[in-house]
Amino acid sequence: MEPMLAELNAAQHTAVTSPAAVLQILAPPGSGKTKTLTSRVAYLLSHHHYQPWNILCLTFTIKSSREMKERIARLIGNGLEAKLILGTFHSVCRRYLARYGHLIGIRTGFAIADSSDSISIIKRIVKRYHLQIDPKKAQSRISSSKSKGLTYEDIRKVEAHQKNMDQQDFIRVFEAYQDHLDQSNLLDYDDLLLRCVDLLRQHPVCVSNIEVVLIDEFQDTNIVQFELMQLFAAKHKRITTVGDPDQSIYGWRSAEIKNLKRMQEQYSDTLVIYLEDNYRSSGAILLAAREVIEQDESRIPRPLLPTHCPGTVPVLRLLPTADIEGLWIVSEIKRAIAHTGNLLEHSDFAVLLRSASLSRQVEAALGKAGIPYRMVGGQRFFDRFEIKVLLDYLRVISQPDHNDALARIINVPPRGIGPATVKTLLESAETSRGNLSLWQFLRNLVRGEGGALVKISKSAMQGLASLVGIVLTAVSKLTHTMKPHSPKELLCYIIKKLNFEDYLKKTHEQDYDSRWANVEELLAQAADYPAHAGNDASITEDFVLPVIKDVQQDIGNAAEEALSRFLSNVALATEIQREDESDDNESTPQARVTISTIHAAKGLEWPVVFIPSAYGGSIPHSRAEDTNEERRLLYVAMTRAQAMLYISRPVKNSQRGQYFFVSAQGKVLTFIRGNNPFAFLVIENYIARILRRDCPAERSVILNSSVVTRAEDDLWPLDGTEIPEKAERRWDKSSSMDNNWDQQLPSKRRRMLS
Ligand code: ATP
Ligand code: MG
Repeated sequence: MEPMLAELNAAQHTAVTSPAAVLQILAPPGSGKTKTLTSRVAYLLSHHHYQPWNILCLTFTIKSSREMKERIARLIGNGLEAKLILGTFHSVCRRYLARYGHLIGIRTGFAIADSSDSISIIKRIVKRYHLQIDPKKAQSRISSSKSKGLTYEDIRKVEAHQKNMDQQDFIRVFEAYQDHLDQSNLLDYDDLLLRCVDLLRQHPVCVSNIEVVLIDEFQDTNIVQFELMQLFAAKHKRITTVGDPDQSIYGWRSAEIKNLKRMQEQYSDTLVIYLEDNYRSSGAILLAAREVIEQDESRIPRPLLPTHCPGTVPVLRLLPTADIEGLWIVSEIKRAIAHTGNLLEHSDFAVLLRSASLSRQVEAALGKAGIPYRMVGGQRFFDRFEIKVLLDYLRVISQPDHNDALARIINVPPRGIGPATVKTLLESAETSRGNLSLWQFLRNLVRGEGGALVKISKSAMQGLASLVGIVLTAVSKLTHTMKPHSPKELLCYIIKKLNFEDYLKKTHEQDYDSRWANVEELLAQAADYPAHAGNDASITEDFVLPVIKDVQQDIGNAAEEALSRFLSNVALATEIQREDESDDNESTPQARVTISTIHAAKGLEWPVVFIPSAYGGSIPHSRAEDTNEERRLLYVAMTRAQAMLYISRPVKNSQRGQYFFVSAQGKVLTFIRGNNPFAFLVIENYIARILRRDCPAERSVILNSSVVTRAEDDLWPLDGTEIPEKAERRWDKSSSMDNNWDQQLPSKRRRMLS
């Protein structure tokens, strides 16, 4: 059998090979949705006339698009996957705008404003106009309006009669914010999608090569993304989406579960295929997860059937404090590795959190134990001081009108230009005739031209002149016709001109070495973006856009495009749900424990998953509007686990003093029983089966009772949770999932269960 069809069950096989033009696959977690989608791409490539550039594949995270590409490569093995148009919604839209944005008036070389850029712009506006509005709230309201496709003009029209001050202030901020982005040639994340909608509405020919559109995690698309799907698929109307309404967790970002239904309505020939078998998790984990999701009474019941044996009952623990909870996680990781004879490695463990701010205790405990970990969504490589400064220089070189980047580096290294002077300069630029950007203003000032006048000290003036000189020289190196500088060469130039090494030594004496190592890492990453065009210019290219006849393309100077691509990839990598790219580029990849937010973990799986801080207020979150969405979030977290699942919370949560377990309206969300004394009894064999890793013969023998950790040996006191009767009954029922599973237990334990 062909590789793309091997290992598929009947429903998956139908979905992969279906001749239907519009296909919607609805299925629970771990049922092979992503696998099916990937196999369908491989199948389309090898059984139809499609060329890879006829296929557009959209995902939500960089990590999942990378994984998808790798999986396709394994299935087809002829290198064609490199030519698929495959990426996240944001990266695909950015590429289209870079190539065709000029058709709708977007200036060449636009930069991406990430969330921290956005918030600082908004803060400045709020201050400047003395508005009574919380910048963070304004930011999320702007973003949520945009993800519904609304501009400030739309809101103003609808609410023209409103005299509400709050609303007036909001519209004011929104307008000023958008003006600022336009002026600085910036697009924020929402703009990338919105402007791409504009582009494709006006110039559908740009996507005339696309014959099939495939989308993963469709339940989390918003209205704008739905429209993008329609526009991308406008010509051939061939669409495959996969999704799971139970895993919809982006309602707070205006995702609409309704899109599943909407798709069926818009495309009346939609064929819906359901998958039911779960290949990821143990029976016991699924049982517990089902208990959680089934409490949503508005939900349409859907089957979720295990294919694996029940395995180990999930562990539910109460720990005295959050610090001890962290230590407990570490001890369980060590115990699991020891008990399974190193079958598990650190990368098999994940700690999933409701919000990134809960990571401190876990990080501290892992750090103390010397266990390597990677933090998804925490303080990242690109946020480090030395990296931010260098990237800001690149941003200014790529786009001198980038006021924010320029204002940040104007006095780094110090040039005698204090914050008050920066403010004066910014204001003078804005109020100058012709409303100049900060860069234009500085250039005139240094040249003594254009009526640019401000009172500043002589030394500050010299500092400005040197800055302007450095930027101008760098720009001329970038745009040099014969030998344009690559991003790496530009970085080297800046580092040298600024004496950056000495500057770092002086300012960060203590940890200079590690900071300089970061700079070297940045140089290594930049080296992936050469300044010359050609097919090999795309080592890190997510995909290649084909050239469309008769449309004017903005292919531009290859070096400028390389720089802008490098900076965009940095900006997209810092988006909240995305993976820390720097880790993947490490020269010596290390097996690490993953710490991640639940949102960023969707679609992924690990043998062992911890969900700490599972108390009311954290999950369900105290500010969450939709308890069912919180329940789905817990469900997503639980269904990431393959073999072992731990849910815990400190008894006393010092911040909130809540004593409930995961509780919503007084309901306990899950019945999972307390400490599980035989947690590792069957796990070894079981993990080997799930992961299909080679398990040496002597180790595949089930551990005998002498290595079973009894509750009394456990490090932490029992929480005293009684096993509810219901749980036992369910547990018994679950044994029908795999008739032989209990034979794996020593007879004493079997007796206990019967
Ligand atoms: P999620 O909803 O969490 O994104 P999913 O439905 O996309 O899950 P996948 O990630 O595609 O599920 O698959 C889950 C796991 O099950 C993967 O490890 C996959 O390789 C495995 N799997 C899927 N289908 C089969 C099958 N028919 N036989 C064996 N293993 C399978
Ligand atoms: Mg998936």
